[in-house]
Amino acid sequence: MPEPTIAIVGAGVAGAAAAIRLAERGIAVTLYEAVAEPKPIGAGLLLQPTGQRVLAAMGLLDDALALGTRVDRLFGDTPTGRAVLDMSYRRFHAEAYGLGLQRGALMGLLWRRLRELGVDWQCGASAQGFEQDANGVTLRFADRAPARHAALILANGSFSRLREGMRVAQHAHPFPWGAVWTVLPAPQGFPQIELRQRFRSASQMLGLMPVGKAAGDDTRRGINLFWSLPVAELDGWAGRIGLDRLKAQMAALFPEVTPLLTELTDATQLREARYADVWMARWHDGRVLAIGDCAHGMSPQLGQGANMALIDAHELAAEADGDWPQVFERYTRRRRAHLRFYGQASKRLTPMFQSHAVVAPWLRDRFFGWGGRLPYIHQQSIATLAGVKTGWLWGRLKL
Ligand SMILES: Cc1cc2nc3c(=O)[nH]c(=O)nc-3n(C[C@H](O)[C@H](O)[C@H](O)COP(=O)(O)OP(=O)(O)OC[C@H]3O[C@@H](n4cnc5c(N)ncnc54)[C@H](O)[C@@H]3O)c2cc1C
Repeated sequence: MPEPTIAIVGAGVAGAAAAIRLAERGIAVTLYEAVAEPKPIGAGLLLQPTGQRVLAAMGLLDDALALGTRVDRLFGDTPTGRAVLDMSYRRFHAEAYGLGLQRGALMGLLWRRLRELGVDWQCGASAQGFEQDANGVTLRFADRAPARHAALILANGSFSRLREGMRVAQHAHPFPWGAVWTVLPAPQGFPQIELRQRFRSASQMLGLMPVGKAAGDDTRRGINLFWSLPVAELDGWAGRIGLDRLKAQMAALFPEVTPLLTELTDATQLREARYADVWMARWHDGRVLAIGDCAHGMSPQLGQGANMALIDAHELAAEADGDWPQVFERYTRRRRAHLRFYGQASKRLTPMFQSHAVVAPWLRDRFFGWGGRLPYIHQQSIATLAGVKTGWLWGRLKL
C-alpha cells in the first residue's frame, strides 16, 4: 500500500505555499525545514499580479496589501538621464499593480496559514537524500530516523543537492553576479518612490523599491535598497571595499539616494544575495517533483522567483487528484511554457543588467527606452514583468 502523506522539503515561499494549497484540498502533508527556528527574513519582493492572484486564492491578499506598498511604475535610467525602462502596470491592465513587500512579511502570512490549517511542520529537519520505489519515497535526514511518504516535493532552493538525486537532465550554474541589499526606513522628506533603478553600463546598478513598513516597531516607510556586485567582490566586501566606499559609489551613481544612506550605518545591515541559474529537462521523476527555485532558480532581475513559487504551488494543487507520478507529470506539462519563457528571458536579459559586458548594455541604453515607447513593445515588456507570458510572441498564463 502507498504511504498516505506527502513530504515537502523546504518551508520557503514554494514549500510553504505548496503545503497550504495541498492541505486546503485535504491532502496530508509533512513539511520539513532545515532551519531550527525559521525567522521571517529576506529581501524586498515585487509581487506581480500573478502571485497576488495566488495569495487571493489563499485568502491572504488583503493582509499582504496591508503590509506592502502598491507599485504602479518601474523606472530606470542612466546617470546621463537616458531612460532605459519606463513601464506602467496600468498600461497592462487598468487595475494591475505590483506589490512591494518584504519577504519576511510574506513568510509570516504563509506560516500563519500553515498553522491555521494544522499542517505537520517539522523544523530543524535537514533532508540529506531519498530513495523511491513503486509505492513511495524514503527520505533521509542528517540527525533523525528516515521517513516514508507517498511522494516527495523538493522546494529547498536553487542550491539544492537533493535535486541531483532526480533522474532528470539538469544543471545549476551559480550566477557570477550577486548583490547586497537591505531595507532602510525612509527619512523625513524622502520622496515617494515607485520601483526606481539607476544603471551605469551593466557593472553598476542600484535599485530602490517601497516595501511597506520598515520593520515591526518602526512606522516609517521601508525602502528596499539593492546594489549589484560581482560574486568575486561579494566575499568579504566589508573588509575590502568597506561601507563608506560602497556608500560613496552608490551616491556617485544616484545622488538622490544620499539622504536614505544616512540610515545605513553598519555593514551588517547589508545582506548578501547569491543566485543560481537552474535548468531541468522536466521537473518530475516518478514520485518526486521539484518546485520553486529548486526547479527553476534565476536571477532576480525580472522579479519573478517568489511569484513562480506561488504559481507552482497553485498549479500543483489543481492537478493533485490522482496517483502522484501522474499528478507530477501533468504538473510538468501544465507549467512548461510559462517556466521555459521566464528561464529564457532571464538568461537573455540578466547580462544586460549585471555583467562586465560592453555591447549589450550599450544596446540596452540606446534601444530599450525608445522601444518601450512603442505600444506593442511596451505591452510585451509589461506583460513579461506582470508574470503572465508563456511565449515570446503570444501566449498568456491562465490561473
Ligand atoms: C535580492 C533578491 C531579490 C529578489 N526579488 C524578487 C522579486 O522582486 N520578486 C520575486 O518574485 N522574487 C524575487 N526574488 C526571488 C525570490 O526570493 C525567490 O525566488 C523565492 O524566495 C524562492 O523561494 P523558494 O521557496 O523556492 O526557495 P527558498 O526561499 O530558497 O527556500 C528554500 C527553503 O528550503 C530550506 N532548505 C534548504 N535545504 C534544506 C534541506 N536539505 N532540508 C530541509 N530544508 C531545506 C531552506 O532553509 C529554505 O527555508 C529575489 C531574490 C533575491 C535574492
